[in-house]
Amino acid sequence: MRVLLLGGTTEASKLASVLAGHRDIDAILSFAGRTKAPRAPEIAYRIGGFGGAEGLASYLKAERIDVLIDATHPFAEQMSHHAALAASRANIPLVVLSRPTWRSEAADRWIEVADMAAAAAALGQAPKRVFLTVGRLQIDAFAAAPQHFYLIRAIEPLVPSPHLPRHRVILGRGPFALEDEEKLLRSESIEVIVSKNSGGMATFAKILAARTLRLPVVMVARPRQGSIPILHDPAEVMEFLFRHRETLTSRGV
Ligand code: NAP
Repeated sequence: MRVLLLGGTTEASKLASVLAGHRDIDAILSFAGRTKAPRAPEIAYRIGGFGGAEGLASYLKAERIDVLIDATHPFAEQMSHHAALAASRANIPLVVLSRPTWRSEAADRWIEVADMAAAAAALGQAPKRVFLTVGRLQIDAFAAAPQHFYLIRAIEPLVPSPHLPRHRVILGRGPFALEDEEKLLRSESIEVIVSKNSGGMATFAKILAARTLRLPVVMVARPRQGSIPILHDPAEVMEFLFRHRETLTSRGV
């Protein structure tokens, strides 16, 4: 059985490791190519876009892919939309693997917003020291609120918009530890954190640190999901694959 795994996430890498142990499943992991040096997976991989939903559908057919697994980041909205269209065009099943959202607790001071523009507005008029952890592509939305100082954490070096005059970029790739996050927030006198509701453990320590330090978090909600059921665990995906393989075998495919 041939499987295409759309990745760029911890979940995809974990699933790739599980798939590597199944020699009867021929799986290819796909990266967008945003990170220059992705961690080398244990299965075959490819890098770069497919050229839209049409391009992906052609790839699925040309490579005789039997199942498409979308394990991209919950905020990779375009790719997930293309995956749904392409799987339907290629007439193969689509499985979505995604981490559960983070949920606030009583001690949290979250300001939940729908998108980055709303996040920038939620910071208010008075200048603040902001810890901005929203990913490279979203930073320029904060040019609308240039009065704040932004401590930007990114995986790779970046140059933000010139309209964001007060900022400093620090590099870091999760998983992050609670103690380190608390230290960073204290030493930088951070007053508010901006985060996407990515879910997962790798970047959760900053949310815990905000809880212990009683800092507000401007939390950007996930984009709306389609109607395809979401699996949260690689074991559930494997179950699906085994069931599908039985179906293919019984059809003599
Ligand atoms: P996006 O806006 O949904 O996708 C933009 C385009 O990038 C897609 O149309 C596709 O190009 C290409 N692409 C995205 N994921 C791909 C993949 N796994 N394999 C091949 N091509 C891919 O995506 P994004 O938000 O820029 O995210 C890019 C990648 O970074 C994703 O793989 C995602 O899992 C990962 N990531 C994203 C975030 C985030 O916050 N958005 C955070 C961590 C990791 P074509 O149309 O040419 O096929």
